[in-house]
Amino acid sequence: MNKQRRPIIAGNWKMNMTAAQGRELASKLIPLVSAVKDRDIVLGPPFTALQTVGEAIKGTNISISAQNIHWEDKGAFTGEISAEMLLDLGCKYVIIGHSERRQYFGETDEPVNKKVRPALKKGLLPIMCVGETLAEREAGKLNDVISRQVTGGLKDLSAEDMKKVVIAYEPVWAIGTGKTASPEQANEVHALIRSKVQSLYSAEIADGLRIQYGGSVTPDNVSQLMAMPDIDGALVGGASLKPESFAALVNFK
Ligand code: PEP
Repeated sequence: MNKQRRPIIAGNWKMNMTAAQGRELASKLIPLVSAVKDRDIVLGPPFTALQTVGEAIKGTNISISAQNIHWEDKGAFTGEISAEMLLDLGCKYVIIGHSERRQYFGETDEPVNKKVRPALKKGLLPIMCVGETLAEREAGKLNDVISRQVTGGLKDLSAEDMKKVVIAYEPVWAIGTGKTASPEQANEVHALIRSKVQSLYSAEIADGLRIQYGGSVTPDNVSQLMAMPDIDGALVGGASLKPESFAALVNFK
């Protein structure tokens, strides 16, 4: 593998897995990936399994990520979870602005940005998701949508903070559908994101930015995707729910 940026393979479990199921998955996964040294491995359990999975992976080469966060530190925000609470459970990353949150919970670029900033301030690494719908792609709005999501999500972020952000490009039409963007299609959008970040920050920051691809990534297509110059990792839904398939993804050649 010849990558200038350290690859990052993350599993988004979505609303799946009890704490006991999560612990079992983690304990099966650990020996399958323990030899991996040159890439980051991240599990994204639901809030209710974070503590158990966090304990199961302690001392290993695996980190945990939450799937959402609230921007306030504490207070009267029923049902919400703060950065400090996630850090308390051992989270290193937090997924922000996943397309399912945009689609079903009305999350726009403004709340995405409001979540990215306090996450960084408290010491969590955001995995900020962007991606176009099929209708937007077919209407020729791909560039506009991605540029708007990148610019809006990163608004008012310092260059120092930007160095800690991971961006996940997830075309909505490829999530959970079995339709993957071709490696070339994905790479084209990754390059667009990188050039947008270059124009907002600098060439150095854009060169260091890790951009994951997400959308029906499987052990069968991961190597072709990871071979592309601007693809630095994968954010994986379905194939992250089984230890063998997630291990195969992590161990891509
Ligand atoms: C996701 O949820 O981020 C995702 C990419 O899902 P899947 O891999 O199942 O398409």
